[in-house]
Amino acid sequence: MPKVTRILTISLAIMFFASALGCQSAAAQLRGEDGPSLAQGQDLSIQVVPDPLDIGGPARVTIQGLDMDAAPEGHFDGRPIFFFPTKGGVTGIFGADIMIQPGVYPLTISFETSQGTRQETIDVTVLEKDYGTRNITVPQSQVQLSQADQERAAREKVLTDRALATVSPYRLWHGEFLEPVDAAINSSFGRKTRMNGILSPRPHAGADYRAPEGAPVRCPADGVVILTGDHFFSGKAIYIDHGQGLISMYFHLSEILVSEGKEVKKGETPIGLVGKTGRVTGAHLHYGVYLNGARIDPSAFRKLSGSLNE
Ligand SMILES: [Zn+2]
Repeated sequence: MPKVTRILTISLAIMFFASALGCQSAAAQLRGEDGPSLAQGQDLSIQVVPDPLDIGGPARVTIQGLDMDAAPEGHFDGRPIFFFPTKGGVTGIFGADIMIQPGVYPLTISFETSQGTRQETIDVTVLEKDYGTRNITVPQSQVQLSQADQERAAREKVLTDRALATVSPYRLWHGEFLEPVDAAINSSFGRKTRMNGILSPRPHAGADYRAPEGAPVRCPADGVVILTGDHFFSGKAIYIDHGQGLISMYFHLSEILVSEGKEVKKGETPIGLVGKTGRVTGAHLHYGVYLNGARIDPSAFRKLSGSLNE
Protein backbone atom coordinates (compact mmCIF):
# COMPACT_ATOMS: atom_id res chain seq x y z
CA MET A 1 0.00 0.00 0.00
CA PRO A 2 1.51 3.38 -0.94
CA LYS A 3 2.34 5.66 1.91
CA VAL A 4 0.08 8.67 2.12
CA THR A 5 1.74 12.04 2.23
CA ARG A 6 -0.07 14.66 4.19
CA ILE A 7 0.50 18.34 3.75
CA LEU A 8 -0.33 20.86 6.40
CA THR A 9 -0.67 24.32 4.92
CA ILE A 10 -0.61 27.42 7.05
CA SER A 11 -1.36 30.91 5.92
CA LEU A 12 0.74 33.20 8.04
CA ALA A 13 -1.69 36.07 7.56
CA ILE A 14 -4.61 33.99 8.80
CA MET A 15 -2.47 32.56 11.57
CA PHE A 16 -1.63 35.98 12.95
CA PHE A 17 -5.28 36.96 12.88
CA ALA A 18 -6.44 33.72 14.46
CA SER A 19 -3.70 33.93 17.02
CA ALA A 20 -4.81 37.42 17.97
CA LEU A 21 -8.24 35.94 18.63
CA GLY A 22 -6.67 33.19 20.71
CA CYS A 23 -7.57 30.39 18.35
CA GLN A 24 -4.36 29.56 16.59
CA SER A 25 -5.46 26.03 15.79
CA ALA A 26 -8.20 27.43 13.58
CA ALA A 27 -5.46 28.76 11.34
CA ALA A 28 -4.06 25.36 10.51
CA GLN A 29 -5.80 23.21 7.99
CA LEU A 30 -4.99 19.64 7.17
CA ARG A 31 -5.13 18.86 3.51
CA GLY A 32 -4.75 15.51 1.82
CA GLU A 33 -2.64 14.29 -1.07
CA ASP A 34 -4.99 15.93 -3.56
CA GLY A 35 -4.79 19.29 -1.85
CA PRO A 36 -3.05 22.33 -3.22
CA SER A 37 0.56 22.07 -4.25
CA LEU A 38 3.14 23.81 -2.09
CA ALA A 39 1.92 27.12 -0.87
CA GLN A 40 3.19 30.38 -2.24
CA GLY A 41 3.49 33.93 -1.02
CA GLN A 42 2.69 34.12 2.65
CA ASP A 43 1.90 30.45 2.96
CA LEU A 44 4.04 27.81 4.56
CA SER A 45 3.50 24.12 4.06
CA ILE A 46 4.57 21.42 6.46
CA GLN A 47 4.98 17.92 5.12
CA VAL A 48 5.90 14.70 6.94
CA VAL A 49 7.27 11.87 4.78
CA PRO A 50 6.50 9.04 5.19
CA ASP A 51 3.27 9.40 7.11
CA PRO A 52 2.30 7.06 8.65
CA LEU A 53 5.71 5.67 9.51
CA ASP A 54 6.74 2.26 10.78
CA ILE A 55 8.19 1.41 14.14
CA GLY A 56 11.95 1.77 13.63
CA GLY A 57 11.38 4.04 10.67
CA PRO A 58 13.09 7.36 9.98
CA ALA A 59 11.14 10.28 8.54
CA ARG A 60 11.55 13.87 7.50
CA VAL A 61 9.48 16.95 8.19
CA THR A 62 9.86 19.70 5.61
CA ILE A 63 8.62 23.26 5.94
CA GLN A 64 8.47 24.95 2.55
CA GLY A 65 8.64 28.74 2.60
CA LEU A 66 10.71 29.01 5.78
CA ASP A 67 14.45 29.61 6.11
CA MET A 68 16.94 29.03 8.90
CA ASP A 69 16.63 32.66 10.04
CA ALA A 70 13.31 31.58 11.57
CA ALA A 71 15.26 29.24 13.90
CA PRO A 72 12.93 26.28 13.40
CA GLU A 73 13.06 23.48 15.95
CA GLY A 74 10.94 20.47 16.69
CA HIS A 75 10.28 17.50 18.94
CA PHE A 76 8.95 14.00 18.42
CA ASP A 77 8.60 11.29 21.07
CA GLY A 78 10.59 13.37 23.53
CA ARG A 79 13.53 13.76 21.13
CA PRO A 80 14.70 16.98 19.48
CA ILE A 81 14.42 17.57 15.73
CA PHE A 82 17.14 19.72 14.17
CA PHE A 83 16.46 21.53 10.92
CA PHE A 84 18.76 22.28 7.99
CA PRO A 85 18.17 24.14 4.72
CA THR A 86 16.66 22.27 1.77
CA LYS A 87 15.38 23.53 -1.55
CA GLY A 88 12.71 26.15 -0.88
CA GLY A 89 12.58 25.55 2.83
CA VAL A 90 13.96 23.66 5.79
CA THR A 91 13.93 19.98 6.72
CA GLY A 92 14.38 18.07 9.95
CA ILE A 93 14.75 14.33 10.39
CA PHE A 94 13.41 12.16 13.19
CA GLY A 95 12.83 8.52 13.96
CA ALA A 96 10.32 6.20 15.61
CA ASP A 97 12.44 4.12 17.98
CA ILE A 98 12.31 0.33 17.51
CA MET A 99 10.73 0.03 20.98
CA ILE A 100 8.03 2.72 20.51
CA GLN A 101 4.43 1.55 20.87
CA PRO A 102 2.21 1.89 17.78
CA GLY A 103 -0.06 4.92 18.02
CA VAL A 104 -0.47 8.59 17.23
CA TYR A 105 2.25 10.93 18.47
CA PRO A 106 2.40 14.72 18.33
CA LEU A 107 5.23 16.26 16.34
CA THR A 108 5.72 19.81 17.51
CA ILE A 109 7.47 22.55 15.58
CA SER A 110 8.27 26.08 16.58
CA PHE A 111 9.78 28.94 14.61
CA GLU A 112 10.16 32.67 14.86
CA THR A 113 8.06 35.19 12.97
CA SER A 114 7.97 38.97 13.14
CA GLN A 115 4.96 38.47 15.39
CA GLY A 116 6.81 36.20 17.82
CA THR A 117 7.28 32.46 18.21
CA ARG A 118 4.80 30.21 16.42
CA GLN A 119 4.08 26.62 17.36
CA GLU A 120 2.42 23.94 15.30
CA THR A 121 1.52 20.38 16.18
CA ILE A 122 1.07 17.57 13.67
CA ASP A 123 -0.26 14.14 14.65
CA VAL A 124 2.03 11.43 13.28
CA THR A 125 0.86 7.83 13.17
CA VAL A 126 3.37 5.07 13.96
CA LEU A 127 2.40 1.63 12.70
CA GLU A 128 3.39 -1.79 14.02
CA LYS A 129 5.81 -3.61 11.73
CA ASP A 130 6.72 -7.28 11.86
CA TYR A 131 10.42 -7.49 11.03
CA GLY A 132 10.50 -11.23 11.68
CA THR A 133 12.33 -13.37 14.22
CA ARG A 134 15.79 -14.93 14.18
CA ASN A 135 17.20 -17.83 16.18
CA ILE A 136 20.81 -17.70 17.23
CA THR A 137 22.97 -19.89 19.42
CA VAL A 138 25.93 -18.54 21.34
CA PRO A 139 27.97 -19.92 24.27
CA GLN A 140 25.77 -19.88 27.37
CA SER A 141 28.49 -17.87 29.16
CA GLN A 142 27.62 -14.98 26.80
CA VAL A 143 23.96 -15.11 27.89
CA GLN A 144 24.33 -15.78 31.61
CA LEU A 145 27.28 -13.57 32.38
CA SER A 146 29.80 -14.19 35.15
CA GLN A 147 30.12 -11.53 37.81
CA ALA A 148 33.29 -10.20 36.13
CA ASP A 149 31.63 -10.08 32.71
CA GLN A 150 28.54 -8.36 34.17
CA GLU A 151 30.77 -5.70 35.67
CA ARG A 152 32.70 -5.32 32.42
CA ALA A 153 29.49 -5.00 30.37
CA ALA A 154 28.14 -2.43 32.84
CA ARG A 155 31.33 -0.34 32.58
CA GLU A 156 31.18 -0.49 28.78
CA LYS A 157 27.49 0.49 28.77
CA VAL A 158 28.37 3.74 30.55
CA LEU A 159 30.79 4.56 27.71
CA THR A 160 28.43 3.58 24.90
CA ASP A 161 25.42 5.34 26.48
CA ARG A 162 27.51 8.49 26.71
CA ALA A 163 28.57 8.19 23.05
CA LEU A 164 24.99 7.60 21.94
CA ALA A 165 23.80 10.67 23.84
CA THR A 166 26.17 12.91 21.87
CA VAL A 167 24.34 15.82 20.26
CA SER A 168 26.73 18.06 18.33
CA PRO A 169 25.18 21.35 17.26
CA TYR A 170 26.38 21.12 13.67
CA ARG A 171 25.35 18.80 10.88
CA LEU A 172 28.44 17.15 9.42
CA TRP A 173 26.83 14.85 6.82
CA HIS A 174 25.34 15.67 3.42
CA GLY A 175 23.67 13.61 0.75
CA GLU A 176 22.96 9.90 0.68
CA PHE A 177 24.70 7.65 3.19
CA LEU A 178 26.88 4.99 1.55
CA GLU A 179 26.65 1.27 2.32
CA PRO A 180 29.23 0.49 5.04
CA VAL A 181 30.51 -2.64 3.32
CA ASP A 182 30.14 -4.39 -0.04
CA ALA A 183 27.98 -7.28 1.11
CA ALA A 184 24.34 -8.31 1.46
CA ILE A 185 22.33 -7.97 4.67
CA ASN A 186 21.68 -11.39 6.16
CA SER A 187 19.95 -10.30 9.36
CA SER A 188 17.92 -7.17 8.98
CA PHE A 189 17.11 -4.45 11.48
CA GLY A 190 14.18 -4.96 13.84
CA ARG A 191 14.16 -8.74 14.02
CA LYS A 192 13.15 -10.24 17.31
CA THR A 193 15.94 -12.46 18.57
CA ARG A 194 15.56 -15.87 20.16
CA MET A 195 18.94 -16.52 21.74
CA ASN A 196 19.65 -20.05 22.94
CA GLY A 197 15.90 -20.62 22.82
CA ILE A 198 14.89 -17.57 24.89
CA LEU A 199 13.17 -14.60 23.23
CA SER A 200 15.11 -11.41 23.95
CA PRO A 201 13.05 -8.37 25.00
CA ARG A 202 15.21 -6.25 22.69
CA PRO A 203 14.86 -6.49 18.91
CA HIS A 204 17.90 -6.30 16.62
CA ALA A 205 18.90 -2.62 16.68
CA GLY A 206 21.04 -2.71 13.53
CA ALA A 207 21.57 -4.56 10.27
CA ASP A 208 24.03 -7.44 9.90
CA TYR A 209 26.02 -7.62 6.66
CA ARG A 210 27.36 -11.03 5.69
CA ALA A 211 30.90 -9.93 4.89
CA PRO A 212 33.99 -12.12 5.33
CA GLU A 213 36.60 -11.50 7.98
CA GLY A 214 38.99 -8.78 6.82
CA ALA A 215 36.52 -7.06 4.46
CA PRO A 216 37.06 -3.26 4.48
CA VAL A 217 34.47 -1.12 6.26
CA ARG A 218 33.56 2.17 4.59
CA CYS A 219 32.64 5.43 6.29
CA PRO A 220 29.09 6.19 5.01
CA ALA A 221 29.14 9.95 5.65
CA ASP A 222 31.29 12.72 7.11
CA GLY A 223 31.65 12.66 10.87
CA VAL A 224 33.93 12.38 13.88
CA VAL A 225 34.93 9.16 15.66
CA ILE A 226 33.62 9.57 19.21
CA LEU A 227 34.28 6.11 20.65
CA THR A 228 36.31 3.01 19.85
CA GLY A 229 36.76 -0.03 22.06
CA ASP A 230 36.75 -3.78 22.45
CA HIS A 231 33.46 -4.50 24.21
CA PHE A 232 31.95 -7.68 25.64
CA PHE A 233 28.88 -7.76 23.38
CA SER A 234 29.91 -5.57 20.42
CA GLY A 235 33.53 -6.67 20.15
CA LYS A 236 35.81 -4.18 18.47
CA ALA A 237 33.53 -1.24 17.81
CA ILE A 238 33.56 2.23 16.24
CA TYR A 239 31.01 4.98 16.94
CA ILE A 240 30.85 7.96 14.55
CA ASP A 241 29.04 11.23 15.30
CA HIS A 242 27.56 12.82 12.17
CA GLY A 243 26.17 15.79 14.08
CA GLN A 244 22.78 16.86 15.44
CA GLY A 245 22.29 13.58 17.27
CA LEU A 246 22.96 11.23 14.34
CA ILE A 247 25.34 8.41 15.34
CA SER A 248 26.44 5.37 13.32
CA MET A 249 28.21 2.31 14.72
CA TYR A 250 30.20 -0.67 13.46
CA PHE A 251 30.55 -3.82 15.60
CA HIS A 252 32.45 -7.13 15.73
CA LEU A 253 35.47 -5.77 13.80
CA SER A 254 38.77 -7.62 13.59
CA GLU A 255 40.64 -4.31 13.32
CA ILE A 256 39.84 -0.70 14.20
CA LEU A 257 41.76 1.64 11.88
CA VAL A 258 40.61 5.03 13.19
CA SER A 259 41.12 6.62 16.57
CA GLU A 260 38.81 8.66 18.79
CA GLY A 261 38.65 12.30 17.76
CA LYS A 262 39.50 11.60 14.12
CA GLU A 263 37.46 13.39 11.48
CA VAL A 264 36.28 10.86 8.91
CA LYS A 265 35.05 11.54 5.41
CA LYS A 266 32.26 10.00 3.35
CA GLY A 267 33.72 7.06 1.43
CA GLU A 268 36.87 6.81 3.56
CA THR A 269 37.91 3.14 3.44
CA PRO A 270 38.83 1.22 5.46
CA ILE A 271 37.91 2.65 8.84
CA GLY A 272 38.04 -0.91 10.14
CA LEU A 273 37.95 -4.55 9.02
CA VAL A 274 35.07 -6.98 9.39
CA GLY A 275 35.58 -9.63 12.06
CA LYS A 276 33.86 -11.84 14.61
CA THR A 277 34.77 -10.22 17.92
CA GLY A 278 32.27 -9.95 20.78
CA ARG A 279 29.06 -12.00 20.96
CA VAL A 280 28.65 -13.41 17.44
CA THR A 281 27.95 -16.63 15.63
CA GLY A 282 30.39 -15.81 12.81
CA ALA A 283 32.08 -12.99 10.88
CA HIS A 284 29.77 -10.14 9.91
CA LEU A 285 29.40 -6.37 10.21
CA HIS A 286 26.72 -5.11 12.57
CA TYR A 287 25.83 -1.59 11.41
CA GLY A 288 23.58 0.61 13.53
CA VAL A 289 22.16 4.11 13.14
CA TYR A 290 20.73 6.08 16.07
CA LEU A 291 19.01 9.43 15.69
CA ASN A 292 18.84 11.34 18.97
CA GLY A 293 18.64 8.04 20.75
CA ALA A 294 16.00 6.51 18.46
CA ARG A 295 17.18 3.18 17.06
CA ILE A 296 16.24 3.28 13.39
CA ASP A 297 16.51 1.03 10.34
CA PRO A 298 19.86 1.85 8.64
CA SER A 299 18.59 0.81 5.20
CA ALA A 300 15.49 3.00 5.48
CA PHE A 301 17.69 5.82 6.72
CA ARG A 302 20.02 5.50 3.74
CA LYS A 303 17.04 5.88 1.40
CA LEU A 304 15.75 8.87 3.35
CA SER A 305 19.18 10.52 3.32
CA GLY A 306 19.24 10.24 -0.47
CA SER A 307 15.76 11.70 -0.90
CA LEU A 308 16.37 15.06 0.79
CA ASN A 309 16.16 17.95 -1.62
CA GLU A 310 19.44 19.57 -0.58
ZN1 LIG B 1 23.68 -7.31 14.56
